[in-house]
Amino acid sequence: MISPNSSLPNPHQSWHSHPVADTLNTLQSDPTKGLTSAEIERRRLHYGSNELVETAGRSRWDILVDQFSNVMLLMLIAVAIISGVLDFISLQDGTSEGLPFKDTIAILAIVVLNGLLGYIQEVRAEAALASLKQMSSPQVRVIRNGQTQEVEAHELVPGDIFLMEAGVQLAADGQLIEMSNLQIREAALTGESTAVNKQVVLDLDENTPLGDRLNMVFGGTEVVQGRGKAIVIATGMDTELGKIATLIQGVENEPTPLQKRMTQLGNVLVTSSLVLVALVVGFGFIQAGNFSRLQELVEVSLSMAVAVVPEGLPAVITVTLAIGTQRMVKRHALIRKLPAVETLGSVNTICSDKTGTLTQNKMVVQMVQTLGNQLRVTGEGYSPDGKFFAQEAQVVATKAYSEIQGVLVAGVLCNDALLQQDEAGNWGILGDPTEGALLTLAGKAGLFQSQLDEVFERVDEIPFSSERKRMSVICCDRKKTDAYTLFCKGSPELILNCCDYYQFGDHAHRITAKERDEVLRMNAEMASQGLRVLGFGYRFLDHLPAEGEGAEQGMVWLGLVGMLDAPRPEVAEAVRRCKAAGIRTIMITGDHQLTASAIAQRLGIAEANSHVLTGQTLEAMSQADLELEVEAVSVYARVSPEHKLRIVKALQKRGKFIAMTGDGVNDAPALKQADIGIAMGITGTDVSKEASDMILLDDNFATIVAATEEGRVVYTNIRRFIKYILGSNVGEVITIAAAPILGLSSVPLTPLQILWMNLVTDGLPALALAVEPAEPNVMQRPPFHPNESIFARGLGSYIVRIGIVFAIFSIVLMVWAYENHPDSWRTMVFTTLCLAQMGHALAARSYTQLTIEMNPFSNVALLAAVIGTTALQLMLVYVPVLRNFFGTSVLTQEELLICFGFSSLMLLWVEGEKLFVRFFMQRRMRPMRPE
Ligand code: ATP
Repeated sequence: MISPNSSLPNPHQSWHSHPVADTLNTLQSDPTKGLTSAEIERRRLHYGSNELVETAGRSRWDILVDQFSNVMLLMLIAVAIISGVLDFISLQDGTSEGLPFKDTIAILAIVVLNGLLGYIQEVRAEAALASLKQMSSPQVRVIRNGQTQEVEAHELVPGDIFLMEAGVQLAADGQLIEMSNLQIREAALTGESTAVNKQVVLDLDENTPLGDRLNMVFGGTEVVQGRGKAIVIATGMDTELGKIATLIQGVENEPTPLQKRMTQLGNVLVTSSLVLVALVVGFGFIQAGNFSRLQELVEVSLSMAVAVVPEGLPAVITVTLAIGTQRMVKRHALIRKLPAVETLGSVNTICSDKTGTLTQNKMVVQMVQTLGNQLRVTGEGYSPDGKFFAQEAQVVATKAYSEIQGVLVAGVLCNDALLQQDEAGNWGILGDPTEGALLTLAGKAGLFQSQLDEVFERVDEIPFSSERKRMSVICCDRKKTDAYTLFCKGSPELILNCCDYYQFGDHAHRITAKERDEVLRMNAEMASQGLRVLGFGYRFLDHLPAEGEGAEQGMVWLGLVGMLDAPRPEVAEAVRRCKAAGIRTIMITGDHQLTASAIAQRLGIAEANSHVLTGQTLEAMSQADLELEVEAVSVYARVSPEHKLRIVKALQKRGKFIAMTGDGVNDAPALKQADIGIAMGITGTDVSKEASDMILLDDNFATIVAATEEGRVVYTNIRRFIKYILGSNVGEVITIAAAPILGLSSVPLTPLQILWMNLVTDGLPALALAVEPAEPNVMQRPPFHPNESIFARGLGSYIVRIGIVFAIFSIVLMVWAYENHPDSWRTMVFTTLCLAQMGHALAARSYTQLTIEMNPFSNVALLAAVIGTTALQLMLVYVPVLRNFFGTSVLTQEELLICFGFSSLMLLWVEGEKLFVRFFMQRRMRPMRPE
């Protein structure tokens, strides 16, 4: 029907006012076969890719300006200006020595460089996050070349036929061809949060507002319930979403808690340095009794101001977080929001779904049980090769067992999955594994979808949802169009409640309490073996029920199907690791309590006698009661998504820091409420992914544990280099402040030298500390308290203590060298401070292990940084050009040795502290210092 030469229509506004048949005609598409590959290619060239052009978010310019609004950089700019004015005055006076404006230029260069570095890092981080998001870009189910298949959302073209189901975020605008119970939340477009009921046949005016175009569906909106089929009418920027140019998948750019704390730290540092400057200057004036020392005191102030700013820190932090996301992605955890990298380390409770996360989600039916018969089923995977056994004897034809045959038919008709064979002949399913397993089961009895489709036509359905825990379809006999049958499958207890009869042989009998008890007993028996059990029922109808008529009642009970969903082999070990790491694992599932309990026991999440809380009991509990209960419950069964939200809130009330998984459309509120919301990469709905902080690319529980471990490593490393960098800053400031107080004639360090120290001699080793490998005990200690300050557990006091020790060593050296080496005392102080930081970097790798006890090659980057930085420092002293520029003087061999000697005291001090803790304070300190 498509002619390759026909011209393609341009998108227009009024599709909704035409019947869908017209639209199909205009766009030359077929509702059952879709487009051909050649036609899709032609349309892709004509209409372009189905992508929104990024428009929202901060502009590049905003990002750049933001870099310079930081208080520390503003202080540096002020220092540069004052220093420039001083240089200018001395030029005028003719008292200038060396290169004029050197410090000003250097400081401004650093400011610009810092700003640019921050800018590049932020832009890259945004790009990286955006590309990570791309990796989880939604798939769309389409009909192409007469086949149902999944394609990437950006591959859609106008005329494509696409299918929708609950949880899907639509990727393009379309007109409905058919639908069942379709409800769509269009908040992204209209701001209206209640879902809209869609309709196919409508006579709409051309001017109908967007929100009332009930026969249309729009890109960016979310299917809350039901199913539907539509034809794409607009893609990319031609969609309604594209028109309002709102990028809902825009990159979120929240500062991490750490970045916020760093801003606070900047304020504290700047304020305290200003106070210190005021004190030193005041003291200087009082000492001199007049303004004769004005210039010297101004120089001291400038140096102190430069010294207090940890210029290298922001870059190191961003790099560390970026490395963290990369490491996590290698372990199949995709970070969607940067704060998750560092906050993952604080997780102390993981609430996980069962199906697919703790288990493999590869369902294989083991047993079919009716009130009259019980058949065991063999076979593996989704291949419809397997046998049926009654007791120990193989059953040749299941047709002889009428009720069993009924279960198989209901299982195939009440089903949205597809059983397919690929080119290599391997069987697989498209859709829900629970449903796929039923198709395989029927296939083993020689019953396939295609055969039943010839006899029955689905005319209506009530879709599955985690709240309803069941699904029904109404089928019409193709020969007798007024004979309808409703087939229902779902949670056995619920289906049984809707049944008044039971099938026995070819007849339906009234069900009594005896049969009901028997069914429940069978259900419990299968569930306690860890099987996932579904119940089946049917009912004849003489007319199509009207909306709200409640068709799922007065049904005939057919039987039970028990399927095995084996636990993932790596999960038991991951749960054990969690226990060792002080993290509690909680299972929250929609499945039966006995199934849940059996699997939980196998995985070590619960004991045989552990209490399982069901959704029903939870429903009857007040939130306050639930809060009392949550500490003791590790398995929640038969829960609905809204219960998940209550459980998270109750746990949070008890001070827990929660990572929670979810996959359904209604899990989004719980995912948002959890401290770390985790969506499933494979089975998760688009809506749940949008609401999450992290996506599991392999849906695997063990991946959460791996990501938590990485989070701990990142947090520990951040603390490690912060203590290293800030300790040095404190030391520098005190040393500089001491010079005028002790009556020394000039400042020991120029702003240029300080910048060198902060950026190069501190910065490079700090970067190397950021990649320090995980300590072996990282998952054998309790998690950090999420609200603790980054300076908690002794870090703040360490920085002050080490800063003071650092200053004492350099002041002693300074005073001694000032007397004995008047020409090179400043260079000696400068060199000693730099070299001392090298020793400090080596020692800072561990809180507890001595440097000699650690393998130097386990962090080669640090080794290289220390050797490289030492060489650079020596070049500053011995290469004439650099010497001139940095204002250093040549050191004699003896002087250099003295510098090395003094600087090694720093390493010895830190090592001495470790030994002190080890021998005298171990008992008291250990719980405080889990690193
Ligand atoms: P988890 O919450 O751990 O992922 P789950 O898959 O059992 O487990 P739900 O998807 O909410 O959770 O399913 C709840 C119950 O609904 C199941 O235990 C089963 O009885 C029933 N059920 C699941 N899938 C279907 C389906 N496709 N059709 C009908 N009933 C279903």
